This record gives sequence, structure tokens and C-alpha cells, in this order.
Amino acid sequence: MSDTVEPKSRTVRAPRGNTRTAKSWGAEAAKRMLMNNLDPEVAEHPEELVVYGGTGRAARSWAAYEAIVRTLDEIEPDETLLVQSGKPVGVFRTHEWAPRVLIANSNLVGDWATWPEFRRLEELGLTMYGQMTAGSWIYIGTQGILQGTYETFAAVARSLGRDSLRGTLTLTAGAGGMGGAQPLAVTLNEGAVLIVDVDETRLARRVEHGYLDEYTHDLDAAVARAVAAKDAGQARSVGVVGNAAEIFPELRRRGVPIDIVTDQTSAHDPLAYLPVGVSVADWRAEAARDPEEFTRRSRASMAAHVEAMVGFLDDGAAVFDYGNSLRAEAELGGFDRAFAFPGFVPAYIRPQFEEGRGPFRWVALSGDPADIAKTDRAIAELFPQDTALRRWLDKAGSSVQFEGLPARICWLGYQERHLAGLKFNEMVASGELSAPIVIGRDHLDAGSVASPYRETEAMKDGSDAIADWPLLNALLNTASGASWVSLHHGGGVGIGRSIHAGQVTVADGTDLAAEKLARVLTNDPGTGVMRHVDAGYEHAREVARERGLTIPML
Ligand code: NAD
Repeated sequence: MSDTVEPKSRTVRAPRGNTRTAKSWGAEAAKRMLMNNLDPEVAEHPEELVVYGGTGRAARSWAAYEAIVRTLDEIEPDETLLVQSGKPVGVFRTHEWAPRVLIANSNLVGDWATWPEFRRLEELGLTMYGQMTAGSWIYIGTQGILQGTYETFAAVARSLGRDSLRGTLTLTAGAGGMGGAQPLAVTLNEGAVLIVDVDETRLARRVEHGYLDEYTHDLDAAVARAVAAKDAGQARSVGVVGNAAEIFPELRRRGVPIDIVTDQTSAHDPLAYLPVGVSVADWRAEAARDPEEFTRRSRASMAAHVEAMVGFLDDGAAVFDYGNSLRAEAELGGFDRAFAFPGFVPAYIRPQFEEGRGPFRWVALSGDPADIAKTDRAIAELFPQDTALRRWLDKAGSSVQFEGLPARICWLGYQERHLAGLKFNEMVASGELSAPIVIGRDHLDAGSVASPYRETEAMKDGSDAIADWPLLNALLNTASGASWVSLHHGGGVGIGRSIHAGQVTVADGTDLAAEKLARVLTNDPGTGVMRHVDAGYEHAREVARERGLTIPML
């Protein structure tokens, strides 16, 4: 049986509070998080089940969505639902420690792992693109990426010998679900930023949600505002409606004093990147009419876009790829210097991965923002020595508007995450928090992803494309007591370019939850340390030795 996505105008919103209709909190939490992914406050195009990242979906079709919700209400606490690319395909008797849901999204056998073949199968209703946290039901809106983006820009400032981005101008593009975090991440780092997007509605949404200060159609006005903010040392974000493949070269031609350049358009999918000469209104129809020709045009535009970025690099700017495959697509589009600038992971993030640090996130099923405020305080008390974490929690508490269920994100590593999980579980048990807390993470993490253009770019031992690691991560989380585990292909950088895994575990205040949390939240980041020990990173070896991780051949 197969089915396709029928656009539907309906509003999905997760239930709030501490009364459940499912038979376990594991199943209830999975159901609410699926619904939360499709909340119009959270999802980019909920009517098509698209959560973020081009066409990243939460379920294959509305019929599949309804069947998942119904089944999660019905399964016993010792049963497991299997989801194959967004469609519920079976329920099996397992045991209480087993995940309530096991998910496999978008996986294809190597030789078949191309966009055209994926789309052919998608068209037949046989698969779905799950991105990273869309099809694994732990997307929390733009905040999810905000902290990682904030950390990256803080690291860029440090690499320039600065305390903050004050007095600098950053140029970027793509104000979608993930990319929309960039303007606020730059201003939280005290810099000025100009962000380009072809779609006015994306810029308007970021202004409405407080992620962007203003936007205009007028390039002269945008440049004047952004440069004035840079000169005055003001934190200010300015959006401009336009195509990055035209605006980036134009800004370079004008000699605009830009210090930092990156991009987060949906370049991982050539049909989700708008080529020069096509209007936003005609985008879908043109892409559907002739996907191959559209791909050729979009790659040619990406080549022009990246050529301008390399030009800024030659002029002395700090330039990096922000994990969307833009360089690879530009190279396919005929620009042979596309890899002149690095990806953000080797440039700024890898030392954190060596400690198993990555984006840890949690969601209050109560729906009460006061629960998140309490967890923020608990985290600050648990890690008093981490001043950057404290600064982030202060800033997030005052400037992040919740989208959907209240949630928080921060980066924690090996031998840290389980302390947070156990503390939250105690707070649920004592009644200090008014309902269970869902604890998960991005797939962009230390040990759960193989992605040679992003997380595993330029590994020390050359193991960039080895994909055994995410499989081991998913198996280990399943064996450790996670509430749901997912194994995906193609997230972030597109079909054929990544394999990655996710886990989510629920703190429902029970002793059993405490035991599961202690194992999952230790073992999951532990695979990040293990991965980097194996690849020969000295810092990872020290972390393993100091924090007691058993590595047989260390
Ligand atoms: P999205 O589809 O929600 O947004 C993409 C935006 O790019 C849209 O607003 C679109 O209008 C705009 N756009 C497309 N073509 C353009 C062009 N030629 N000029 C200007 N704007 C254009 O996607 P998203 O969730 O924001 O993700 C963006 C990219 O970042 C994806 O490739 C995704 O895989 C990647 N990503 C990176 C990270 C990271 O940590 N660095 C994390 C997740 C996703």
C-alpha cells in the first residue's frame, strides 16, 4: 500500500499537561512531539507535513500521520511501533526497556542513493525525506539551531581575535527554519548582519518571531543600514529580499566592507534552491515541470553564489560553508574553486565533538514556560563553572520566543548530559515540574552522524564517509532504554551524502525513567568521544581516560 501527500489545511497542536491518553509516557511523548513538529508555530509548511530543511517531513501523508497518532494511543508499554519513512508499518511485542517507536527514514542502498531515484520513489508514495529532526519528531523550531549558530559565530569572533562580533558585518542568505537563526545569533554576539532571502514571507516570519530586526526590498537601503550598524558597533540585523546568486556578486562589486560570509539556503536539494531568473511564484511548477533542467540552472546559480563567496575570501573575509552542501553543488555547477573555504565543523566545532559535546535539547510536555525557566535554573546550578553556558541561558531566557511546546537547547557533553536528565526526572517526580520532560538532541552531534561535507568533513584519519558509527549509535541507544530511536539518510546535506541517528528519552519522574536516562544520556555522547578517539584525536583520548570511557584498544 502506498500513498502520497495531499495538502490539507488543518491545524495540529500537541496536547498540553500531565494527563495522557496513551498507555505510557514514552508513547504519549512521541505522539505529542510528532504533533508539535506540525504545529504551525513550529513547521515551515505544515499543510504539506513539511517541518523544515527544504522538504523535511514528519509523516509520509495525512493518512499515515493519523494512523501513527492512533497507534501511539493504543500500544502497550511493552510494545514497539515501527515507522518506515513516515508511515507506521507494524507493532511488535518487545519489553518495557525497549523504545516505544523505532524509525527508519529515507534510507536507500548506496548505488540508488541519488535525488532523482529518491524522488521517483517518493512520487510512488514509497518513501519520505525525514531531514534530521523532522522525521524523528524532535524539532523545536528555530531555537533548536539558534544556540549552535550562536556558538559558531562566537567561535568565528574568537578566530578573528575578538571578544565578540561588535564592529563587524556578516553576510549570509537563507532565512528558513534553520537559517532564520542566523540574524539573531549574530546580534546576540553583538555584530551587524545582512541576510538575503528570495522569499519575503520567510523574512517577515523572522521579524514577527523576533529573530530579525527589519527587512526591505531595497538593496541600497539595506546596505546603508547594515554598514551604519557596523560602523557604530551596533548589534543590528537587516534582511533583504533577493536572490543570493545575484546579490552576493553585486555586494562584492560595490566593495561593501563585509567581514564574515556564509550561507544557509536549502542548497542540499537543488530543487529547493531558487535559480536566477525564476520567480518565487513559479518555483514549484518550474521544478516539477523539468527537475533536471531546474537542477542544472540551480547549480549554475550556486556556482555564481559561491564564486562571490570565494571572492570575499580572496579579499580577506572569514568565509565558511554552513552545512548545506553549497560547495559540492557549486562544483557540480562548474565552479572549480568551490572548496576554497572550509566547512564550519572542521573550522569551528570539532574540538567540542571530541568531548561528546553537541546540541542537547528538552521540551516541557506541560506546555508551561515556567517549567523551562525552572530547568534553566537547574542547569545553571549543575554546571556553575561553565560561564558561556550561563551567558547563553540568560540570553535565551530573555530573547527566545517559544514556538510550539516550550523548549530549551544547550551544548553538553559526555558525563554531563545524564546529570541534567536525572535532575529533570527528580523535578518531575517531586512535582516541581508540572508534567514530564522530553530529552533529545539534533542528529548534528558528535557520534551519531557520518556526513563528509559537514560533521565528518576532514577527519584526521580520513574516515569521513565511514557510516558504521551512526548505526552503532542507534543500536546502542536502542539497547540503553531510549523512548524512540531513528536512523536516517540524507539529512542536512542531501540524499547520498549522510547517514545519521537520533534518540529521544522521556523523564516521567519514575525510577525506571531514571535508570534509562542514566544509561542513554551517558552512552549516547560517549559514542562521540569513542568516534574521535578512534580517529586519532588526542583531546578525545584525554577525555576518555579522564572520564572513564572504556575503549579496548586505547
Ligand atoms: P528552509 O528550506 O526552511 O529555508 C531555506 C531558505 O533559503 C528559504 O527561505 C528559501 O526561500 C531560501 N532560498 C532558496 N534559494 C535561495 C536563493 N537562491 N537566494 C536566497 N534565498 C534562497 O531550510 P532550513 O531549515 O533553513 O535549512 C537551510 C539549509 O541548512 C539546508 O540545506 C539544511 O540542510 C542546512 N542545515 C544546516 C544546519 C547547520 O547546523 N549548519 C542544520 C540544519 C540544516
